Amino acid sequence: MPSLHNKFLTMDKKEILKKLHKLMTADETLPLRKGATNLVFGEGNPDAEILFIGEGPGYWEDQKGRPFVGNAGSLLNQLLQSVKLDRESVFITNVIHYRPPANRDPLPEEIEAFQPYLDKIIEAINPKVIVTLGRFSMGKFLYGVKISSVHGKTHIVNWKDKELVVVPMYHPAAALRSQEIKLQLFEDFRKFMETFRKLKEEKKEKAIKQMKLL
Ligand code: URA
Repeated sequence: MPSLHNKFLTMDKKEILKKLHKLMTADETLPLRKGATNLVFGEGNPDAEILFIGEGPGYWEDQKGRPFVGNAGSLLNQLLQSVKLDRESVFITNVIHYRPPANRDPLPEEIEAFQPYLDKIIEAINPKVIVTLGRFSMGKFLYGVKISSVHGKTHIVNWKDKELVVVPMYHPAAALRSQEIKLQLFEDFRKFMETFRKLKEEKKEKAIKQMKLL
């Protein structure tokens, strides 16, 4: 990735994401670029409290240049609706941003090549929670664990000298193949949003109490 100097310090989140999108589109060193139709940067609210990170673009994402717009995307939309989350209020991206041939799994070196951009996206958005979808994005933050053991559980991880809240979830595509995983994924979303909203409410009440003491 080209040097970004300290330019980002004076830019707002939307501007940073726009600049990153532009840099990424122009980056000819990125793998999978030649075989892809479009870069799938990610989309959503730059001020999102929740950032979803999936695996990589499939056929429809590649065609449209947008994340999660195929079958897995329809299920993600249903999951968001089930917990009354507007898709526009969150941000959605992937660990790799060009479609691999025949939708194969991303290779470690491909994930590594996109990593500096994904890291900058995370830093720009600075979300309260990162929800990983599937084992490849989970692997960015949690090591040596199986998704079947940790799905839906909140993890506090140290990332670049700061604490991140990461909740690993099954990938919606896995839920399309298994009814059991689908039910579990809906349940994990329900519990996650219940906890998230409760913690937000508690924080708000604490702040109000503190203000009254001033
Ligand atoms: N699967 C992913 O992991 N990401 C997408 O954007 C679409 C499908």
